[in-house]
Amino acid sequence: MLGVDLWIKRDDLTGFALGGNKGRKLEYLMAQAEDDGATVVVTCGAAQSNFIRQLGAACAMLGIRCVAAVMGLPYEPGYELPPSFPRPTLDARGNLLLDMILGVEVRTFPDGSWETLYAHAASIAADLRGAGERVYEIPVGGSSPLGAYAFLQAAAELNAGPFDAIVVPSSSGSTHVGLAHAFAGTATRIVGFACDPEPALRDDFAALAAALAEATGQRRGLSQEDIDLRYDAVGAGYGVPSHASREAIEWLARTEGVFLDPIYTGKAFAGLLGAIRGGEIGGRVLFWHTGGMPALFTA
Ligand SMILES: *Cc1c(COP(=O)(O)O)cnc(C)c1O
Repeated sequence: MLGVDLWIKRDDLTGFALGGNKGRKLEYLMAQAEDDGATVVVTCGAAQSNFIRQLGAACAMLGIRCVAAVMGLPYEPGYELPPSFPRPTLDARGNLLLDMILGVEVRTFPDGSWETLYAHAASIAADLRGAGERVYEIPVGGSSPLGAYAFLQAAAELNAGPFDAIVVPSSSGSTHVGLAHAFAGTATRIVGFACDPEPALRDDFAALAAALAEATGQRRGLSQEDIDLRYDAVGAGYGVPSHASREAIEWLARTEGVFLDPIYTGKAFAGLLGAIRGGEIGGRVLFWHTGGMPALFTA
C-alpha cells in the first residue's frame, strides 16, 4: 500500500513501566546511579515526559528517591503558540498520573525555555546535596553518552536488515545518535524527525556523538553530515499536535492496530509518510517505535 517494505521496531512493547525507548537508556544509567551510591536521582522534562515515568519506576524499584523538575510546555523564547492550542494541563493525567503512582517528587515550574528548566534542576540538585543526599543527575531524556550507548547496543538486535533507512523521532538525541553511530559507514541511513523546533538540535547531537565516540574509544566520531535530522514534521512546536500527526496516528491504528503517540512517534511517522510520498525514502525501511502512548490520554 505504501510501496515500501516497512518494518516496525516495537520499543513500545519492551514491557518495563509501559515501555518506550527510555527503558534502554535506564538499564545503563541506573547501574551507574547504583554504583555511585545515589540516594536521589534528579532530572527534568516536560510534564508528559516518558523518561520521567520510566525513571520513576526504576528509582522506586531500587529504593532511590526521584525528583523531577517539570513544566507543562517547553518553548523557545519568542516562539508563539497557535492561539487555538489548548494549554497542556498539569493535572495528573497520562504520564503525570503514572508519576504520582510511582511516587516521583514532581516540582512544577512555569512554561519557559529548556535552559531555564535545566537551571531549576541544577539548583534542586545543589539543595539536595546541601541537605546531605548523594545526588545522581540525569540530563533531559536520559541523553548522556551512556544513554546513547544504549542505542548503539540496541542496533545489534536487528536481524531483518539490511535496511535502506531507519526512521526515529528525535528530541534529546541519544536514540538517533546511538543508532547513527552503530550504522556509520554502512548503507543504512538513520533519519530523525525532530519533535522539537529548537534549531540547535543538530549541534547538540554532534556534541553527544563526539562524547560517545570518545567514551567508546572510536577514532572517528560522526560528522554533521552523518546526522540526518529533519524539521518538516515538528508542526507548530514541541508537544503541539499537528494535523499530519493526528492523521498518521489514526492511519496506523486503523491499518495495523498499532498506536502512536501525539508528541513523538505520531510526528515522526507523519514525516516518514511524507518522505515516502516524496520519493526520499524507499526500499526496506524500519520505523523505530519509541513508545509514548500514555500522552494519548492527555488530550
Ligand atoms: C524521548 C522520546 C523520544 C526521543 O528520543 P531521544 O533519545 O530523546 O531523542 C522519542 N519518542 C518517545 C516516545 C520518547 O519518549
